Amino acid sequence: MATIFSKIISGDIPCYKICEDELFFAFLDINPVAKGHTLIVPKKEVDYIFDLDDSLLSKMMIFAKRVGKAIEKTIPCNRVGISVIGLEVPHAHMHLMPIQKLHDMSFEKERLNFTADEYEDIAKSISTNFA
Ligand code: AMP
Repeated sequence: MATIFSKIISGDIPCYKICEDELFFAFLDINPVAKGHTLIVPKKEVDYIFDLDDSLLSKMMIFAKRVGKAIEKTIPCNRVGISVIGLEVPHAHMHLMPIQKLHDMSFEKERLNFTADEYEDIAKSISTNFA
C-alpha cells in the first residue's frame, strides 16, 4: 500500500507543496515544530533513509541544501537545522527547520499551528526563493 507521502506526491492527499524535481518532493510538515518546517521526501518509496542507495541519498542531501537555502531566505533564522526521525511515517524523509537555538528543533515541544492561508503563504514564499 502506498505511504501517506506517496499519496501526497501523487496528489491524492493535499499538502502545502514547496517544490519538486524528478526525484524528490518538498512540502510543509502539517504539525510543525518551527515555522517553515519542511519535509524532503524521495519519490521512490523506501522506508529507512539508510536503505537508499548512495547515489539517491547524496542527491537527496543536495536537494535538501537547495530547499534549506530557500528557507533561509524566507524565514529569519540563525540556520536551518536538519534531522531524520522516521518513526511515524515509513517513507524516508528529512526534516528541515529554521532555528535560532537548539530548543527550536525539539520534537518534544508543543507543535505550532497555522491557518490554511498562513501555510499557503509560507509554502509559496519558500517556493519563490527556491532556485
Ligand atoms: P517522523 O516519521 O517521526 O519523522 O515524523 C513524520 C512527520 O510527518 C511528522 O512531523 C508529521 O507531522 C508529518 N506528517 C505526517 N503526515 C503528514 C501530512 N499529511 N502532511 C504533512 N506532514 C505530515
